[in-house]
Amino acid sequence: MIAKLARLGDEFLDVIQPLTDEQAIRAAQAQYLGKKGKVSELMKELSKLPPADRPTVGQAVNRVKQGIEDQVAKRLAELEDAKDAQDLARRVDITLPARPVGGGHLHLLTQVRFEAVQIFAELGFVVAEGPQIETDWHTFEALAIPKDHPARDMQDTFYVSEEIVLRTHTSPVQVRTMLTQPPPIRIVAPGHVYRRDDDPTHSPMFTQIEGLAVDEGISFADLKGTLLHFVKRFFMKDLGIRLRPSYFPFVEPGAEVDMQCSFCGGSGCRICKQTGWVEIGGAGMVDPEVFANCKIDSEKYSGFAFGMGLERMAMLRHGVNDIKFYYEGDVRFLEQF
Ligand SMILES: [Zn+2]
Repeated sequence: MIAKLARLGDEFLDVIQPLTDEQAIRAAQAQYLGKKGKVSELMKELSKLPPADRPTVGQAVNRVKQGIEDQVAKRLAELEDAKDAQDLARRVDITLPARPVGGGHLHLLTQVRFEAVQIFAELGFVVAEGPQIETDWHTFEALAIPKDHPARDMQDTFYVSEEIVLRTHTSPVQVRTMLTQPPPIRIVAPGHVYRRDDDPTHSPMFTQIEGLAVDEGISFADLKGTLLHFVKRFFMKDLGIRLRPSYFPFVEPGAEVDMQCSFCGGSGCRICKQTGWVEIGGAGMVDPEVFANCKIDSEKYSGFAFGMGLERMAMLRHGVNDIKFYYEGDVRFLEQF
């Protein structure tokens, strides 16, 4: 009888080994350990044995039962492990290329500033910088705009005190350069400027790039050539410019700079209000009075200066229709550039 029990144990092992789902394993378990199972059938013969043998045989029965249950548990655990491994293989396919890491990039205005500086650098201009909190003298007086000058009304200034202002243009950088560096001078001054303006095309803080060239024999043609080169390179199109006579206290003659509309090429559209031209800045020949304030001999030297708003340049190139997009930090906007 003990031998029969041992055979049942071995037999069960052979039955269960090829099974691969829990239901089949449980069914096999019932076939052996259930009420009418093979082990139970064998146990009926227990009563026919001599009482002295019963404990030994009883223990053997328990061993076989335990053995079968252990086998069931072991087989189920194996199946569970195999399933986990399969899931893991499905989730992590190490042969797939890695997902790109979401990195940042330069802000549109920074990109535009770098590009503008690069174009002027090709012409021999170097970058000059100065403080954003400036003296009234560097911002206005040196540029031939005394306190009672009507031109002060053109620029709504933030005053820190009577003599200290937030610079309204980057022109004080030109003044500081002329005061510290003898000609020849070729600088561009990009940077933040501040005015009391706030509407869809104006922000209280915006970014300018100004240029200054001072040397012997600098003419208006040099100014025009420089601006024309810049417009063609920056917009990567063969666009023309025109200079309309205008008044700025620090240049003589002075001009407003227009370029052919980069959207319609000059035929007229909504952006240029059907004129074919858009204004991009101001320019002119440096006024001798400014040279005198900056200790430069205007008999020997001449120079030109120009200024443009970088927000406007970016707007004209990318069709940005509200200046606030630049400063709100909305990634849906920033990601487009
Ligand atoms: Zn147009």
